[in-house]
Amino acid sequence: MKKYKSAIILFAVFEAIAVSLWLSTGSLFYLLNFSYIGCTLGIGLALSAAGWKYAREFVQFCVGSYMLVFLGLICKENMQIEGFWYYLFSGVLGAGVLHYAIAKIFGPLLFGRGWCGYACWTAMILDLLPYKKPANPRKNIGWIRYVMFGLSLAMVVLLMCLGKANKTNMFYLFVAGNVVYYVVGIVLALVLKDNRAFCKYICPITVFLKPMSYYSVLRVKCDESKCIQCGKCLEVCPMEVEVNNNARNRKNATECILCQKCKKACPVKALK
Ligand code: SF4
Ligand code: SF4
Ligand code: SF4
Repeated sequence: MKKYKSAIILFAVFEAIAVSLWLSTGSLFYLLNFSYIGCTLGIGLALSAAGWKYAREFVQFCVGSYMLVFLGLICKENMQIEGFWYYLFSGVLGAGVLHYAIAKIFGPLLFGRGWCGYACWTAMILDLLPYKKPANPRKNIGWIRYVMFGLSLAMVVLLMCLGKANKTNMFYLFVAGNVVYYVVGIVLALVLKDNRAFCKYICPITVFLKPMSYYSVLRVKCDESKCIQCGKCLEVCPMEVEVNNNARNRKNATECILCQKCKKACPVKALK
């Protein structure tokens, strides 16, 4: 049972959120939504603990496509960062605000960038591309994310000032934003030979994710007394995390997406 502990804890956390929101808002949507996500994450983590190779991809597809297709395209909720700004400034506790609060602002204190490894619908597609580990050294252009963050905020403020910020326009923005993200993400991955280039340099959400995940309870730990410095974990990491160093401030520490590839590659089980 010990190896399924993380799966059970994660499921319990999401179920607690689902029930609390259901009882406090009276909306059945929150119960079903967070129960579905918690179940999927729990099953995925359990399958991963049991050794199934595609457990992470299974979760990523189940959660990512649910959010993109059902919540985004069918229910017309803007779950992108622009939707978060829109609902926040409108003073509405919509799905967008809750989603950001749980998955991207406060949740990372518990589960780091688990969102990026197991739920993001942009990465769900980018991870299918051929460059699962970067072919070239990391570039020093991470500042672009701050520009994107500022632009997303400015765009929503402008729409609000013009009186054009409404649910219909936010839906169009959601569709257009996703098309742009997919095109830019795919082109960048192919040019830089790195599936996760978009995550490393462009994605504005990392402005929230990175500082919060620094303090994450859930993180890959290295027993340095066991490590034989073979470097196999570093070779497979898609995010170039210096995972064979146990310090919180290891290189690219806040980039870890908890994909577990390093753990599987370690010949002496030094990573937990
Ligand atoms: S960095 Fe952005 S695009 Fe990449 S997985 Fe995380 S949220 Fe998705
Ligand atoms: S390979 Fe390890 S260190 Fe790298 S992102 Fe995945 S879990 Fe994190
Ligand atoms: S794969 Fe394991 S033993 Fe090798 S460097 Fe990484 S943590 Fe150390």
